Amino acid sequence: MNDQDRRDPERASGDAVPLASPNGASPLAALQGLSIDFSADTGAVPLANAIGPMTLIDTAPITGSPESQFGPRGERTVSKLIILGSGPAGLTAAIYAARAYLDPIVLAGSAPGGQLMITSDVENYPGFPEGIQGPELMAKFREQAERFGAQIEDVDVDRVDFSSRPFQLWARGTEYRAEAVIVATGASALWLGLESEARLRGRGVSACATCDGFFFRDKQIAVVGGGDTALEEALFLTRFASHVNLLHRREQLRGSRIMQDRVLANPKITLHTNTVVEEVLGDAKVEGLRVRNTATGAERVMASDGLFVAIGYRPNTEAFADWLDVDEKGYLVVHDETASKIEGVFIAGDVHDHRYRQAVTAAGDGCKAAIDAERWLESQGVTEVRTAAAW
Ligand code: NDP
Repeated sequence: MNDQDRRDPERASGDAVPLASPNGASPLAALQGLSIDFSADTGAVPLANAIGPMTLIDTAPITGSPESQFGPRGERTVSKLIILGSGPAGLTAAIYAARAYLDPIVLAGSAPGGQLMITSDVENYPGFPEGIQGPELMAKFREQAERFGAQIEDVDVDRVDFSSRPFQLWARGTEYRAEAVIVATGASALWLGLESEARLRGRGVSACATCDGFFFRDKQIAVVGGGDTALEEALFLTRFASHVNLLHRREQLRGSRIMQDRVLANPKITLHTNTVVEEVLGDAKVEGLRVRNTATGAERVMASDGLFVAIGYRPNTEAFADWLDVDEKGYLVVHDETASKIEGVFIAGDVHDHRYRQAVTAAGDGCKAAIDAERWLESQGVTEVRTAAAW
């Protein structure tokens, strides 16, 4: 996709001029080597000497024509801050941003709530000593964000244009604009794709040992995968399970040597190579697995009270990967806590964090991103100084 494709042809005149070069080179290339001092100005920053008569900041759309600021249902489409994602990171950012009078719009995704929506009991989120259901926890996050005025739209962002401010984002045909953006779109666990796996998710099938391992005390469980995630989950689950069967589709494990050694040395783990799950057995809960040996073709039933699928995660970066730095695993790269390579675009939660992946760490990240965004907006003159302490 080139820069022309990314821009909406119907964009109103008078908006910021994109930083794309006329020859269609990457808009980000235009920023390379430029040092822009935003500290003293509250309006447009002239870049005339550098790259012609362009405007980097254009706050006009926020006070522009009313018609352009509302979507088909009368919802706001222009804000100081747009937050992408509605897991713990996105909604915590929304709570903080709303309390700082940033009037955030949350583009929550068509399956709002993130990974906790497929988690049953959450017993490690502080403040809930009796535990709480994942969907209920996310409903509380959302209610809290809405209470302070966040506007939440359950739509997926299809594409973005981060070449100039206000940033442009498109979701289900509607254009949104904001001076700052927080990307908190999370990561999705990969699944095997079996009908029985989907049916029994939350009933013995899980993709999170940290979340659900506790419920398998003295049970026999299986872990699928051969990478570090699977090895780590298998080891973690030995704290609870009577036995862990590790099922890997190939002969050789993919994970690091040290993790392999630990797994192979653990008497509570049995490694089954060349083994794939054909079906998860059980009606209301997992009662076993039908597995196939890929070398012999032989099928058998393996007793199991649970199945942990640990075949990797996919960060949800499709709409931004062209604009922001991604690491070798596909996760967004943060600089200085929550900043991205583009000023005004911040990053929070699992979309960059493949190390902790916890609701509470994502929520903390969302808080940090909102504070950073608010302080940055204030430094640009988009918000008044007095709001900076309104948390
Ligand atoms: P990986 O991509 O490394 O491994 C995924 C595993 O799942 C592979 O063994 C793969 O098999 C298997 N797999 C994939 N799809 C299927 C399928 N449909 N059916 C059966 N098996 C399947 O992902 P991880 O999440 O394990 O790791 C991602 C990255 O994160 C790695 O770089 C890893 O080192 C890192 N990591 C580091 C940790 C740490 O340092 N503590 C902890 C966790 C992850 P195959 O081998 O045949 O491709």
